[in-house]
Amino acid sequence: MTIKKNKMNTKLIHGGISEDPATGALSIPIYQSATFKQIELGKTTAGYEYGRSGNPTRDALESLIADLENGSDGFAFASGLAAITTVLFLFKSGDRILISQNVYGGTFRILDEIFNNFDLEYEIIDTENLEKYENVLKNDENIRGIIIESPTNPLLTVTDLNEISKISKKYNVLTIVDNTFMTPYLQKPLDLGADIVVHSGTKYLGGHSDVVSGLLVVNDKKLAEKLRFLQNSTGGILEPFDSWLLIRGIKTLSVRMDRHIENAKYIANVLKNSEAVNEIYFPGDVDFKGYQIQKKQAKGPGGMISFTLKEDYNINEFFKNLKIITLAESLGGVESLVSHPVTMTHACIPKNILEKIGIGENLIRLSVGIEDKEDLVEDLLTAIKKSKNKIK
Ligand SMILES: *Cc1c(COP(=O)(O)O)cnc(C)c1O
Repeated sequence: MTIKKNKMNTKLIHGGISEDPATGALSIPIYQSATFKQIELGKTTAGYEYGRSGNPTRDALESLIADLENGSDGFAFASGLAAITTVLFLFKSGDRILISQNVYGGTFRILDEIFNNFDLEYEIIDTENLEKYENVLKNDENIRGIIIESPTNPLLTVTDLNEISKISKKYNVLTIVDNTFMTPYLQKPLDLGADIVVHSGTKYLGGHSDVVSGLLVVNDKKLAEKLRFLQNSTGGILEPFDSWLLIRGIKTLSVRMDRHIENAKYIANVLKNSEAVNEIYFPGDVDFKGYQIQKKQAKGPGGMISFTLKEDYNINEFFKNLKIITLAESLGGVESLVSHPVTMTHACIPKNILEKIGIGENLIRLSVGIEDKEDLVEDLLTAIKKSKNKIK
C-alpha cells in the first residue's frame, strides 16, 4: 500500500509497504531468510533471490523512508557510515568532495583516512556562506559533490539547503544532505532541492538506542539504479531484524520528536539564562545565528543543544555529577545523553581543525530526551553547581 498523498503522522504509521501482502500481518514480519526459492530458471516466487540483493522486511523499511522523505527510492544499510560509504562510491579518483564545517566526525574520517587513499579528495567549507560556495565551484571543476549537515554536529550551524542546492545544480554537483538531526518529520531535503538524503537511523528514526542503521533516499530513478547496484555490490545492507526495529521506531517518530523539541526549548531557555553558561547553540533560540533559516526550511529546531561552561567550571566534574542524563556516544534516543565532542564524537578530527571550526575543550553536546523536563533541568543545574571551581 503506497499512500504518498497523506500527511506526515499518517504516513509514519501507514507509509511505504505498511502491512504484509502475503499474510495481512499489520506488523511486517521479520523475514529471516538468506535465500529464496526459484520456481524455475530466472523465475522467482515474489521477486526475491538472495538476502543481500533484497529482503521483504528491508523492502518495507526502504519504501517507508522513501515515502517519508518524498523520494522515489530508499536504501537501508548496516549503519549511517555504511550508507555514507556507499554514496562516496558514486565518485571516482580525481573527483573532489566538499563537506560542511563540523560534520559528523566519522564522515570526515572516511574521507580523510580511507577515500583519500583512492585519490578522492575533500575540502572543508563554511556552507553558511553561499557566495563563497559558488566561487569555489566556479574555480574547481573537479568538485562533484557536497555533503551537508543542517543543523551540523555539534555546533548546530544552519545552511540554507534550498539556496545551496540551486548553486550545486548550476555546476552539476551532487547535493548530499545528512538529515539525521532533523528526520523527515522536521525537514525534507529532497523537497528543498537536494539529490541524496542520508540518515543514521541509529538516532531519532530508531529512537530507542537499540539499533545501529543507516538510510539513503533519492528522488531520481537513474541515481536510484546506481545506488541499488552499489548497495548490492558493496554489501553493507541492514539485516531483517534491524529493519523491523527501525520500522517499529519510526511509527512513534512524531510524538517523540514533539516531546524532544518541547524539552529542548525549555532547557535551552534555562541554560541561556544561567550564570555558568558561556555560549549556547540551539536553532530554536531567536538569538541564534541560523534561527531564521531554520524556521524557513524546517518544522522545528530538533532536540540537540550544545553549550560551553565558563572557565571556572570543570567539565569532567559536570559529567560525573549528572544523575539522569547519561554520558555516552550517540543521540536521538528517548533517554537524554550528553557528550564531549573533542574527546568523543569528534576525536578523529585533528585538534588544529577542531579549533579552527570552533569545537573547543569546553563544548558540551546534549541530546535532550523525552523525560520530564523539570527533572532534566534539575539534573543539569545540580551538576553545573557541583562542578564550579573544581581544579581541572
Ligand atoms: C551518528 C551519525 C552518523 C553515523 O551513523 P552511524 O549509524 O553511527 O554509522 C552520521 N551522521 C550523523 C549526523 C550522525 O549523528
